[in-house]
Amino acid sequence: MSVCETCKGSGFVNCSECHGKKTLNCSTCDGKGTVNCSKCNGKGTLNCRKCDGTGKITSECKACGGTGWVPSFNPSSLGKCEFCHEGYITSVCPDCDGSGRETCDKCDGSGREECRICYGSGREECFYCHGSGRKTCDDCNGTGEE
Ligand SMILES: [Zn+2]
Ligand SMILES: [Zn+2]
Ligand SMILES: [Zn+2]
Ligand SMILES: [Zn+2]
Ligand SMILES: [Zn+2]
Ligand SMILES: [Zn+2]
Repeated sequence: MSVCETCKGSGFVNCSECHGKKTLNCSTCDGKGTVNCSKCNGKGTLNCRKCDGTGKITSECKACGGTGWVPSFNPSSLGKCEFCHEGYITSVCPDCDGSGRETCDKCDGSGREECRICYGSGREECFYCHGSGRKTCDDCNGTGEE
């Protein structure tokens, strides 16, 4: 019997998957610690709620009460309202300045959110060695001798 050269007699060798570091890159976020924001799909913006992403809002014309017609000089006939198009006014959405987009409130426009698997660390416990960083030496079956 002599001391096992592979494990120097300890009976254990470094885990080959994590190289003894006990953790691996988080597979969910690929080690980045963040994943695409689930609310905006990583874009950082959402459809503006006020205008539903169109950038415009349509409101009823107050001048004609939404009818599109106003009394003309001739009391018996109606004239076309000059302020609107068929009773409705289309204007630029004030919430998004006409862009149709608003900053995602979940990720503050970054498009990223913390990975819930690794809590943002980008690392997860090595499942090959259960976080111990080592495994039993195959050459000596853990006895440290050969
Ligand atoms: Zn060994
Ligand atoms: Zn490992
Ligand atoms: Zn808008
Ligand atoms: Zn009008
Ligand atoms: Zn977002
Ligand atoms: Zn992760």
